[in-house]
Amino acid sequence: MMKVQVVYDNRGTGTTLHYGWGFSAMIGKTVLFDTGEDGDKLLSNLRSLGYDYNEIQMVVISHDHWDHRGGLWKLLEKRRGLPVYICDGFRDSFHQDVKEYGGNLRVVSGRTEIAPGVFTIGPIEGEYQGGPIQEQAIALVSSERADRQQLNVVTGCAHPGVVKVVRECSAAFPELRIDSVLGGFHYKNKEDREIAEEYRLLMEMGVQRLGPAHCSGDRGIEVCRRDCGEKGMSVDVGFLLDV
Ligand SMILES: [Zn+2]
Ligand SMILES: [Zn+2]
Repeated sequence: MMKVQVVYDNRGTGTTLHYGWGFSAMIGKTVLFDTGEDGDKLLSNLRSLGYDYNEIQMVVISHDHWDHRGGLWKLLEKRRGLPVYICDGFRDSFHQDVKEYGGNLRVVSGRTEIAPGVFTIGPIEGEYQGGPIQEQAIALVSSERADRQQLNVVTGCAHPGVVKVVRECSAAFPELRIDSVLGGFHYKNKEDREIAEEYRLLMEMGVQRLGPAHCSGDRGIEVCRRDCGEKGMSVDVGFLLDV
């Protein structure tokens, strides 16, 4: 059993945790996926949720956007030498900044197991504002028992399209059933019927639990509630997923 917890999201009403534009999640106690926009908020949320940043063994940044990398610098100030996994497609200035802050940069170009059962599947091609973008996602293989293993996907913004991201994760682990997909689905600018079609495809692929967060947008969350029934999860900062 492993836990994934959202530690940064733009939704957080009714909580004393900080919230703001961006996304970040802890995978277990040692892997931080994305860092939100603001390092002070991130570190404060980690503390409030019972995490010790000294126990973090690596950071994975999904893609080179401010709302996913912004909190990294405050963490690196406290944790020089921390491995930072990125994929192809990050700007040279990002590489430079990580080095200046003392981070141990690791560029992933394909499926890589970074901790037991925790994989980045490497860069996936997408499009953002008319230009190309590359983004990586986390594939989490849960359960100690080999015959009960399932696949869980955590996405940053899913600029390549969440269906494509899940397909690529699934192609990397064709023998596994897909349990959950959590993170930014980037439905902000999509029509309801396009969103509905994507949820339909995801459920057709066998996804059991869907947690649209961050840039999934109000419609992305509403259509999930409407169409996915018990498979839909309501996500905001602090949300905890057992996988
Ligand atoms: Zn984003
Ligand atoms: Zn983005």
